Amino acid sequence: MSTQPKITIATAWLDGCSGCHMSFLDLDERLIELVEQVDIVYSPLVDTKELPEQVDVGILEGSISSEDDLEKARLFRERCTLLVSLGDCAVTGNVPAMRNHFKLDAVLDRAYRENVTLQPQIPTRSVPALLTPVKPVHGEVKVDVFVPGCPPSADAIWAVLSELIAGRAPDPNAVTRFGA
Ligand code: SF4
Repeated sequence: MSTQPKITIATAWLDGCSGCHMSFLDLDERLIELVEQVDIVYSPLVDTKELPEQVDVGILEGSISSEDDLEKARLFRERCTLLVSLGDCAVTGNVPAMRNHFKLDAVLDRAYRENVTLQPQIPTRSVPALLTPVKPVHGEVKVDVFVPGCPPSADAIWAVLSELIAGRAPDPNAVTRFGA
């Protein structure tokens, strides 16, 4: 087992489908190797409620579509030494950004009135205010590493994490070679 201090990693999903996190779990047996070298200190995959004050690597899935997404992206940028955009929604806006072609009222009508048969109503509570337009993560905060793909493959995620653990910036060509 390594005697190096463990790298701390935090992950979150913003406006995403969780598929990028599922791809992370597709590391399968490599997860065992990973936990020998990193501490996942905050993530939907662990039971921590607060992002620590300082984290080595922050990984964000999903685009910035709401005030909550924006707040979380800014908090990750503030507290994480290195910020990774994971997946096409984070990197380009992808599926969530499709609503940028329509007015917000029309989108809400479609989702909460036109496609609903039981109590159609636009929620006014417990739903974060939506922002217009939807943006990729780097549209609001500085991003250090981009990992495209919908979702990125487990091999691509492993390639990036392996480089970060080794203290190197990931080679973009390596990520592309492993594909999405
Ligand atoms: Fe889901 Fe694809 Fe977006 Fe990842 S990039 S959150 S898999 S839609």
